[in-house]
Amino acid sequence: MAGILIYSEKSKSVYELLTAAKLISKETGLKIKAVSINNEEQASELAGKGAEVYKINNDEIKIIDTAGLASVLQQAAAKLDTNIILLASNRRGKELSGRLAQKLAGGCLNDVLSLQVNEKKIECMKNALGGATVATQSIETANKIIALAPKALEAAGEEAGGSINDLEIEVKPTELRLIESRSKAGDAVDIEAAEVLVAVGLGADQEDLKTAEKMAKALGGELACSKPMATDRKWLPEDRLIGLSGKKCKPNLAILLGISGQVQFMVGIREAGTIVAVNTDENANIMQMADYKMVAKIKDFLPEFIERIKID
Ligand SMILES: Cc1cc2nc3c(=O)[nH]c(=O)nc-3n(C[C@H](O)[C@H](O)[C@H](O)COP(=O)(O)OP(=O)(O)OC[C@H]3O[C@@H](n4cnc5c(N)ncnc54)[C@H](O)[C@@H]3O)c2cc1C
Repeated sequence: MAGILIYSEKSKSVYELLTAAKLISKETGLKIKAVSINNEEQASELAGKGAEVYKINNDEIKIIDTAGLASVLQQAAAKLDTNIILLASNRRGKELSGRLAQKLAGGCLNDVLSLQVNEKKIECMKNALGGATVATQSIETANKIIALAPKALEAAGEEAGGSINDLEIEVKPTELRLIESRSKAGDAVDIEAAEVLVAVGLGADQEDLKTAEKMAKALGGELACSKPMATDRKWLPEDRLIGLSGKKCKPNLAILLGISGQVQFMVGIREAGTIVAVNTDENANIMQMADYKMVAKIKDFLPEFIERIKID
């Protein structure tokens, strides 16, 4: 009998992992253990959500050293008798899952969108064929490392019964040194967290872009874009890119301007609550997926829309 271990340095993600762990635990009876590294606040919040938390306090652990982190988690998994390890599928989490799988001779799945337990087997749902379909995959090895996409599940709520324990881990000093950390060039926006997104595609010109930005701000949202707007035209930074090669977003409202709705784009927005599409082509793919469709030029739509919702 082994158990489930959850870890992410990002608190928001680890609370979502706790939800996934509870789902697995409910069906399998396995115990959940949460590891928190050099983060007192996260440890106490996890305990407040009912988790059995193991705090590792050691200044030699450097989060930037993914190989070192994998070794820490490998030891934690052994000491805590856990064989199912849930990580966040962010950049670091994806690297960590591969490294950990190699160390534990287990299988790993990244970018998992949801999971379910079927006859004690954990089934993971992931986009496949460039997002055209969703595949159900499971890991056959005893050790399983599963990295869940951000916002795949709701964060766990408050629950009684949590505890905080100390865990000693042997840490080899790393050769890696953090010399300087700088925020990304550009405006480092988090479109994944936005409740409202106004996204522009190749149907937009520079003037449309400016108006769309104004509208996004007025709606309390963020401006985002399709890939060619960021990588070909370079009108917007890549951290605003939605889709397979960019961010997977789940806003309440997505207003898509001049975007055709290719599958690689839709993968990143299909979980939106409401999709409004503005396109001159009534047969564009996006029109089949949108909740509200406007066959119009962006230039004709935007001023009228802005007027109706009374944006100055
Ligand atoms: C491996 C791979 C990964 C990819 N990853 C991504 C990704 O992550 N994200 C992504 O976006 N793409 C991705 N792509 C590219 C994707 O396939 C499409 O090429 C891209 O999404 C198209 O962008 P678009 O909709 O802005 O442009 P287009 O497909 O050119 O669509 C422009 C739309 O604007 C409409 N239009 C034109 N003028 C106006 C106007 N004045 N007013 C209103 N509408 C107008 C047109 O009718 C058209 O529908 C990927 C492709 C590959 C092969």
